[in-house]
Amino acid sequence: MLDEQLRYYLNQTHPPKGEWVKELEEQAKTDHVPIMESVSMHFVMQIIRISKPKRILEIGTAIGYSALRMLEANPNTSIVTIERDEVRYQQALDNIQRLNKQHHIDVIYGDALEEISKLQNTADPFDLIFIDAAKGQYKRFFELSVPLLSNNGLIITDNVLFRGYVANPESSPKKYRNMVDKIKNYNDFLMSHSDFTTSIIPVGDGVALSYKT
Ligand code: SAM
Repeated sequence: MLDEQLRYYLNQTHPPKGEWVKELEEQAKTDHVPIMESVSMHFVMQIIRISKPKRILEIGTAIGYSALRMLEANPNTSIVTIERDEVRYQQALDNIQRLNKQHHIDVIYGDALEEISKLQNTADPFDLIFIDAAKGQYKRFFELSVPLLSNNGLIITDNVLFRGYVANPESSPKKYRNMVDKIKNYNDFLMSHSDFTTSIIPVGDGVALSYKT
C-alpha cells in the first residue's frame, strides 16, 4: 500500500525490535508465511496500548507473531487465537511456549467459521477482535464475531486495501479480482453498519478500525 520510500522511512523511525521479534519475522520469511506488515503491526500495538483490552480474539494465528506482539503491547491481556493450518498451529504453539506466554495466549486449532460461535457460551466477551484470516470470508468472520464483542469493543481487520487494488479494482491482476471485489463489498458493509463506526487507515496493507457504538 505505502510506497517503498515511505515504508522504509516509517520502519526506520521505529525503535529497534527485540531479538525474538526479528527471529519470528525471519521464520515467517523462510517458511513463506504471511504475517502483518511491520508498520501496521506497530499501529495495532499502539491501539492496544491506548485501549488496553482485557481480552483479545484473533482470527488467523499463523506462527503466533501478531498474537505475541499484541501481548507485548499490553502484557496483562489474555488472547484467544484460531488457526486452521496444522503446521502453523504447531509452530505457533512452539513459539508461544518458547517465549513462555502459554498462560496468556490460547491457540485453538480449527476453522474459525466453526470455532468462533463455540466461544459464545464458554468465554467472557472480547474487547478487541482482530480479523486476519481468509480475505474472502471477512464478512462472515465479522458477523460471527459481533456477538462475542463487549460494548464499546473494537474489531480490527487487516488487508482491507489489498495492495491498493481495492481502491482501483481494474488495476488488479485477474487472479485477484474475485477477492478484491469481496474485500470492497466488506468495506462497504463495514462503512454502512448501523452498530459500528469504521475508519479505514492506509497503513501497511490497509487496516479497518470498527468501533461498536
Ligand atoms: N495474524 C498473523 C500474523 O500477523 O502473525 C498472520 C495470519 S495469516 C495472514 C492468515 C492465517 O489465517 C493463515 O495462517 C491461515 O492458515 C489462517 N486461516 C485462513 N482462514 C482461516 C479460517 N477459516 N480459520 C482459521 N484460520 C484461518
